[in-house]
Amino acid sequence: MTANAIEIRGLRKTYAGSRGAPAKEALKGVDLDIPAGSVFGLLGPNGAGKSTLINILAGLVLKTSGKATIWGFDQDVSPRQSRAAIGVMPQELNLDPFFTPRAALEVQAGLYGVPKSQRRSDEILALVGLEDKANAYARTLSGGMRRRLLLAKALVHRPHILVLDEPTAGVDIELRQMLWENVRRLNAEGMTIILTTHYLEEAEEMCDQIAIIDHGAVVARDSTANLLARLDTRSMIIVPEGDVTALPEKPGIEVTRRDGGVLALSYSAGQVSAEAVLEAVRDAGIRIRDVRTEQADLEDVFLELTRSR
Ligand code: ADP
Ligand code: MG
Repeated sequence: MTANAIEIRGLRKTYAGSRGAPAKEALKGVDLDIPAGSVFGLLGPNGAGKSTLINILAGLVLKTSGKATIWGFDQDVSPRQSRAAIGVMPQELNLDPFFTPRAALEVQAGLYGVPKSQRRSDEILALVGLEDKANAYARTLSGGMRRRLLLAKALVHRPHILVLDEPTAGVDIELRQMLWENVRRLNAEGMTIILTTHYLEEAEEMCDQIAIIDHGAVVARDSTANLLARLDTRSMIIVPEGDVTALPEKPGIEVTRRDGGVLALSYSAGQVSAEAVLEAVRDAGIRIRDVRTEQADLEDVFLELTRSR
């Protein structure tokens, strides 16, 4: 066990252009440490470079330059050991249509050199809820079942690190719950989990550490709690009694009108106290029927960091 499950230094990837398309620099020198034992979120808009990063770690895409160390093994020096340490559930549903789920797992186990006596295909199929479909042809499986099978395949060699690339994009609630239950349980058993997502609430709920990646570069890397604390913007939402004739005016407070006569007063919690905001409201002659506050969520942090780049 190493302190960092993954260490990435100066990682670059340029896809060669083809048929008139220009070359694309998908990763522009990424440095990133992913602590062992964490549930780590890789967050970013479409095209940010998340899949490229993950596919390089999985050995599916060749990097242009830089270094990746997986579970202490330098990818270039020890390709076999570094590949054995990581299991990837890819974003694409790339399954051989002629293999049954059980056969697909056996083939995968063979590829990773898992001896027959140590294979546990049935156990893994049960884990992902595919035990009834063990002998069905993959082409008869629904989209959700294919995703379950992809997760099962990522687990056959008992990797230290499990990577899930946009696992819940477009999946139903049941599958999503199955995925998160498995993620929590595997993590509790010691597996490091890396997941990419562009669902921010999901990252907020599932991940203890987050890197935000945009245009091929890491723009933020912190604990989820610290990222959220980074924006201390608060909004006080006031439902006034009767009509509002004058708006509150005070430096540091920005007032916007919402539907139904509701006022939203946003302020920086570090600079303006909630009491001062209420005072400004009273000074404007507004009587308060109801009041509540809103805090910044990960979405605000994300927008702030990826804006105008
Ligand atoms: P994400 O997973 O964050 O959506 P990707 O890693 O898939 O981002 O893509 C990053 C950038 O690299 C995008 O601009 C994408 O169009 C480009 N790209 C990805 N794969 C290829 C490829 N095989 N050939 C050329 N360009 C690619
Ligand atoms: Mg992707």
